[in-house]
Amino acid sequence: MNLILLGPPGAGKGTQAKRLEEQFGIAQVSTGDMLRAEVKSGSEIGLKAKAIMERGDLVPDEVITAMLAARVSRPDAARGFILDGFPRTAPQAQALDRMLADKGLKLDHVIELKVDDAALVDRIAGRFTCAGCGTGYHDSFKPPAKSGVCDSCGGTEFTRRADDKAETVAARLDAYHRQTAPLLPYYAAQGKLSGVDGMASMDEVARQIGAILSGKA
Ligand code: AMP
Repeated sequence: MNLILLGPPGAGKGTQAKRLEEQFGIAQVSTGDMLRAEVKSGSEIGLKAKAIMERGDLVPDEVITAMLAARVSRPDAARGFILDGFPRTAPQAQALDRMLADKGLKLDHVIELKVDDAALVDRIAGRFTCAGCGTGYHDSFKPPAKSGVCDSCGGTEFTRRADDKAETVAARLDAYHRQTAPLLPYYAAQGKLSGVDGMASMDEVARQIGAILSGKA
């Protein structure tokens, strides 16, 4: 099964993609996570991407598309994948269509997580992640059970994304509306698009996605 999760930053794509990865044994492919790993390692791609990401702009299509092609060719993606944060522009969507056709694969569903812009700034500004295991938290909506200690691994170090600052969030939302939202009609025309209420609880969003995947939505 090959899926795309589409939605603005902070809509919950990463959270839902992780759940689907566990549920179906298919790979979560997050171009944002891949770029952050490149920045951390100080690679050539990382050096180019860092300033762009901190401004809230999009990394050039050629860089992202090459990175994605290499990623979906890895063995863990052979059973399928959930794309989280890709495609973000029309050229990326077209490149993906070509890539899938070349591999004899198809997209099963494109799922839009619908969220009000006003809610996103609060959601994003409070996010943080366990540095040890990557479990995501939120200052108000999902703090760890014991303050300062990760529920999953007991780690005590946490990180916040450099681009989760309020100033950058506005630029990221603008990039979403200008460059990514136009992909919604593109996938609707292919008969692949379904929407879920991204303002609902994480469990309810997961339930709505499950209904789409099982053809009961
Ligand atoms: P994300 O974690 O998906 O919110 O991505 C964080 C940042 O990485 C974005 O604001 C962009 O600067 C960059 N990025 C991630 N995925 C893409 C993509 N598909 N195309 C262009 N830039 C991307």
